[in-house]
Amino acid sequence: MSTITTTRPTGAAELPLEELRPLLRGEVITPGDATYDQARAVYNAMIDRRPAVIVACRDAADVRASVQFAVRHGIEIAVRGGGHNAGGLGVWDGALVVDLSQMRSVSVDPAAGTVRVDGGCVWSDVDHATVAFGMATPTGFLASTGVGGLALGGGIGYLSRRYGLTVDNLVSADVVLADGSFVTASADRHADLFWALRGGGGNFGVVTSFTFRCHPIGEGGTIIGGPVLYDIADTAEVMRWYRELLPSLPEELSGWIALLTIPPAPPFPEELWGRKACGIVWCYTGPHDRADEVLAPVREFGSPLVVGLAPMPFTALQSAFDALYPAGLQWYWRADFFNDITDGAIEVHERFGAQLPTGHSTMHMYPIDGAASRVDEDATAFAYRDGGWAGVIVGVDPDPANAEAISTWTKEYWNALHPHSAGGAYVNFLMDDEGQDRVRTAYRGNYDRLARVKAAYDPGNVFHINQNIAPA
Ligand SMILES: Cc1cc2nc3c(=O)[nH]c(=O)nc-3n(C[C@H](O)[C@H](O)[C@H](O)COP(=O)(O)OP(=O)(O)OC[C@H]3O[C@@H](n4cnc5c(N)ncnc54)[C@H](O)[C@@H]3O)c2cc1C
Repeated sequence: MSTITTTRPTGAAELPLEELRPLLRGEVITPGDATYDQARAVYNAMIDRRPAVIVACRDAADVRASVQFAVRHGIEIAVRGGGHNAGGLGVWDGALVVDLSQMRSVSVDPAAGTVRVDGGCVWSDVDHATVAFGMATPTGFLASTGVGGLALGGGIGYLSRRYGLTVDNLVSADVVLADGSFVTASADRHADLFWALRGGGGNFGVVTSFTFRCHPIGEGGTIIGGPVLYDIADTAEVMRWYRELLPSLPEELSGWIALLTIPPAPPFPEELWGRKACGIVWCYTGPHDRADEVLAPVREFGSPLVVGLAPMPFTALQSAFDALYPAGLQWYWRADFFNDITDGAIEVHERFGAQLPTGHSTMHMYPIDGAASRVDEDATAFAYRDGGWAGVIVGVDPDPANAEAISTWTKEYWNALHPHSAGGAYVNFLMDDEGQDRVRTAYRGNYDRLARVKAAYDPGNVFHINQNIAPA
């Protein structure tokens, strides 16, 4: 998050917007406009920020004009992709928001096995386009999350065990830099910038377009997956079994573990609605004639309340949780990486899982093993390659009156669990108020190199409304 503030006036009324408007195809939205409140709202309703101006960019030219205008007039810049960030870093009080959410075109090259994605896409845009060709690039576990923030921070999802993180599949990125210039970064062009973009977040510029490598998944894009849920009282037994089982499974099968409340909606049986549970959401992307054999240990274990494993298009699993978590809920996050799920950690999970404060509140552990852990720690900016998990505790509820309760539960749970962690957290799970040490720890030994690349590409720290890396 920023520690730098502009000394210039930043009210929209004082900005010469007549200079900017003729350069744009997109709309300029300021306080008082009918669409202002909608344009400043982000996924987490706990965030209530009032930018000076929002530029709904249509193309890279709009992005360049907006960045140059903001720099010329000394106004802070926030960049909004999907607007999903925990701390709401896509919008900022008094800033000019470079809003990419209208830039959502996707183009698949099936022969090359790549997909080119505009900087404002959400993952459902990408999955829709690629799964039609029986392939996908590694994304997250929700379809409504933005490509921009997720891809620049790392990208952990169902395909990470088999094909690596999202950043491990980035082929190139088109970037508007702090001086308004436009470059393409790849392994052989601006290689330092390309290294930094793969985990370093929005620190280096505005990415107007990404090209990702895709991989065949399932059979014609149909995978076998879904949740298997156990009673919350079985948490310790399930976690001990899962931590031993996962490393032994083929990489075509991945599963993330959660503590949750069973949602009061179909397809869950009505008698289970509202019951607390420990669950694993599985995704098998290999050949279907091997599915029974690969999934046998999952089907044979314990006494599940729900076994929701079924063939489905990958897009269906990707979007399975979107309706449960629509935009506009209150969210409070705390996170860490974990090398192991220790017995001590399991005791903490049992205690706080039994006290989930609201129906939406939850704890997730996402594996970063297999292909994701075979990448060297310094090969990309994303440094955590130990083969464990990214854990996240989220207090969530629709009612702002419960904001205090969900935040307190999250913080207390995190305080108890943190000593069992690897230290450091996934940058995309950090809130906006966690401080510079947490950012530094997230990047481990890669921080100093990131600071040097930052000094080369953004020496004035123009892009600082993010998990900020100060120029060396
Ligand atoms: C419900 C939920 C589920 C999630 N699940 C996962 C998951 O499964 N796996 C995972 O890895 N992460 C997950 N995340 C975390 C997610 O990666 C981050 O919230 C990420 O910041 C979202 O990106 P965004 O573009 O939507 O965010 P925004 O709020 O728009 O932006 C976040 C940050 O990225 C920068 N940014 C965004 N787009 C660009 C761009 N094109 N160029 C330059 N900078 C840009 C912004 O300036 C800001 O600093 C989840 C988040 C939520 C809320």
